[in-house]
Amino acid sequence: MNMKEYIDEAEAALLHTYNRYQIVWDRGDGMYLYDIEGKKYLDFVAGIAVFALGYNNKAYNDALKQQIDRVIHTSNYYYNIPAVEAAKKLKTIADMDRVFFTNSGAEAVEGALKAARKYAFLRDGHTDHEIIAMNHSFHGRTMGALSVTGNPHYREAFEPLIGNVKFADFNDFESVKAQVTDKTCAVIFETIQGEGGIYPATETFMKQVRALCDERGILLILDEIQCGMGRTGAMFAWQRYGVKPDIMTIAKAVGCGVPVGAFLMTERVAQQSLTSGDHGTTYGGNPLVCAAVSKVIDLFEEQQILANVNETGAYLYEKLEELTAKYDCIQAHRGVGLMQGLACNMPVSGIINRAVEKGLLLINAGADIIRFIPPLIASKADVDRMVEIVDACFAECEAADSGRESYMRIVHET
Ligand SMILES: *Cc1c(COP(=O)(O)O)cnc(C)c1O
Repeated sequence: MNMKEYIDEAEAALLHTYNRYQIVWDRGDGMYLYDIEGKKYLDFVAGIAVFALGYNNKAYNDALKQQIDRVIHTSNYYYNIPAVEAAKKLKTIADMDRVFFTNSGAEAVEGALKAARKYAFLRDGHTDHEIIAMNHSFHGRTMGALSVTGNPHYREAFEPLIGNVKFADFNDFESVKAQVTDKTCAVIFETIQGEGGIYPATETFMKQVRALCDERGILLILDEIQCGMGRTGAMFAWQRYGVKPDIMTIAKAVGCGVPVGAFLMTERVAQQSLTSGDHGTTYGGNPLVCAAVSKVIDLFEEQQILANVNETGAYLYEKLEELTAKYDCIQAHRGVGLMQGLACNMPVSGIINRAVEKGLLLINAGADIIRFIPPLIASKADVDRMVEIVDACFAECEAADSGRESYMRIVHET
């Protein structure tokens, strides 16, 4: 079958919840993906901030193959060695005490919310606790995660969601403070808002919210699903601020492609929240995904991923600053490490579609923002190649726009 035939079959069989690019992938290698017609694409999406180690990483593939030949799944009624190793390594890199493995980011958020409610229930003996979340946040598509997602477009048709969630403005401490009551049990936000448009938390906001939580006995939940696992040049973005959460959620790059997430917590919260029978999962933390997590953490060390993110990230920052200065339609440049965005004064789908035609994968974050979230092995040469293409796309869009303006002027004059 050719690409068109596969796409037609997919459209006939899959639920239509995505407007997909007209590409069918065959394989990946390093920073590149190849479609079934052999066209090669430089990838600055990484499966949405997932494939940190690059495609077809031999050491990672071998670790998974070895685990497949031993055992893939056994359930959480028993212990398995990869889960022990993965949990121990995660505790160390995250400076947390307890780990619960999930199958996705949304489920990690669900677990974090349940832990916060149980913590407050054990403390106060009542159940009407409130959670404060942020406008423009994204925490996933399940009902609980949607309840703390501050985007009406994702929520509207599915209401009522879980109750007692209040929204505040990100990076506006007073607006958070204004939502606190005696019933508040948790504040949740992404250390860097991803889908909402690449907005890093300010250091002041992080410190003020932490102090407020400490003062009022509120748990701070940081969602590190997108910004964590090295993407900012620190293992987790909160480590750049020195502000530690009580509960954190991870997923995306932690398994580099196998479906795995986790929520982690401090011993204090663990001792006073979820206990036997309170939470569970059939697949979560199975030997296959945990072998992946364990290997990913080892390879981060061996391949010095953080050093590369810091170096390439700084270079990407410089190059995107240059583009921002060059084009009037680029209004702001935000982000850090290999999580950066260009905010434009127009929908960016035109730029992204042109880039795809030229063999570069990019993704938006909201209609007007181009997001750069490549595999964490990206080099300066990859950045150069990417910028060359993006520059050409902006130049073409600008030319097309001024063409339209002069056409409109002509129409107007006649
Ligand atoms: C992707 C994402 C999620 C949801 O993860 P899924 O694995 O898609 O359920 C939650 N929070 C943030 C910050 C994300 O980027």
